[in-house]
Amino acid sequence: MAQVNEHFLKLKAGYLFPEIGRRVTAFAQANPAAKIIRLGIGDVTEPLPPAIVAAMHEAVDELARRESFKGYGPEQGYGFLREAIALNDFASRGVEVSADEIFISDGSKCDTGNILDIFGNSNRIAVADPVYPVYVDTNVMAGHTGPVDEFGRYGGLVYLPGTEGNQFVPDLPSEPVDLIYLCYPNNPTGTVASKETLKRWVEYARKNDSIILFDAAYEAFISDPSIPHSIYEIEGAREVAIEFRSFSKSIGFTGVRCALTVVPKQLTAKTSGGERISLHQLWSRRQSTKFNGASYVVQKGAAAAYSPEGKAQMRALIDFYMTNARLLREGLEALGIRVFGGVNAPYVWLKTPNNLSSWDFFDLLLSKANLVGTPGSGFGAAGEGYFRLSAFNSRANVEEALVRFKQVVKS
Ligand SMILES: *Cc1c(COP(=O)(O)O)cnc(C)c1O
Repeated sequence: MAQVNEHFLKLKAGYLFPEIGRRVTAFAQANPAAKIIRLGIGDVTEPLPPAIVAAMHEAVDELARRESFKGYGPEQGYGFLREAIALNDFASRGVEVSADEIFISDGSKCDTGNILDIFGNSNRIAVADPVYPVYVDTNVMAGHTGPVDEFGRYGGLVYLPGTEGNQFVPDLPSEPVDLIYLCYPNNPTGTVASKETLKRWVEYARKNDSIILFDAAYEAFISDPSIPHSIYEIEGAREVAIEFRSFSKSIGFTGVRCALTVVPKQLTAKTSGGERISLHQLWSRRQSTKFNGASYVVQKGAAAAYSPEGKAQMRALIDFYMTNARLLREGLEALGIRVFGGVNAPYVWLKTPNNLSSWDFFDLLLSKANLVGTPGSGFGAAGEGYFRLSAFNSRANVEEALVRFKQVVKS
């Protein structure tokens, strides 16, 4: 008899985005004339930068000719892309990451989930609360947790609450943990970690022999020069951290798919017998067994982001979204709403007015203003009473959304 992985059955029913979709569809069916504006899901809206489109066209043409046709590429990614990343994303900031420590993939969502393949099953795992749900759900699927409680918390995970008191940057765990997920700039709160904060985490990891899984999907959105873009800007991080980056948000690749994971050569973890094993070697083995590389066309497109035109166009794209973020932030603040994030990240995190619950505010915005956002409680128990807005939208939608916000909040 074939059996299922019963850990899947522990997953909370009604995952956040399907539940949002259900409520929006029901409202739209009942109110067909309503012009709904979605400020919810973190997906980009603007077309690809032209330098990247041109590079991808050229790559397709190469594949169309016998002389330049390519089949399977290297599982870890093409050298031209890995070298461009090492030079432009790391060396240019004085960070030591070599091209062969960079693994190209088809997404950070899969990488942050797949990385669990190389870790054992008895690690104590810490996540922030609120949190990007992928970190939690992939651990549930892997059998690293107990059942879920009424607040949506899984037994066995160490939750590190982000609150207004700590500006949504959680404090160090009070108990020893082995794996720590950090995401900065943060989704969902839009907040960032200072160099001092990251230093404390690296020190903690070194002292406790833990590994930091650092998700830097939004590093390109940082404008404050004092904020680190990479965990490896912190001394000693190469021995304790894996970093994930993605082209999804920076150059609009959510549908094209390309990302990278950095696993430094000296990074190790222990066997139960105490022997130190290279995580770089394990990840390399894992990828070459279960993955056949991102497509050539896509990697050519990603590499074009590092050409002078590509860089300028990427900058303009990010500036466009960050102007949306600023407009949302300033517009909501002017209405007396408490707002976080939106300065170095394309998300604005707000305290719901009148202490409404996250879902009550969702329903109010949808019914009264035909606006869709994301309830903070969907990202964890500590997100209750908060709400996430995404800056990924057209300017016209952002401006119209602010007009409607005003009508709801003032009434
Ligand atoms: C969007 C996002 C990613 C990127 O995922 P991809 O699979 O590369 O599209 C990674 N982490 C977080 C927190 C994100 O919001």
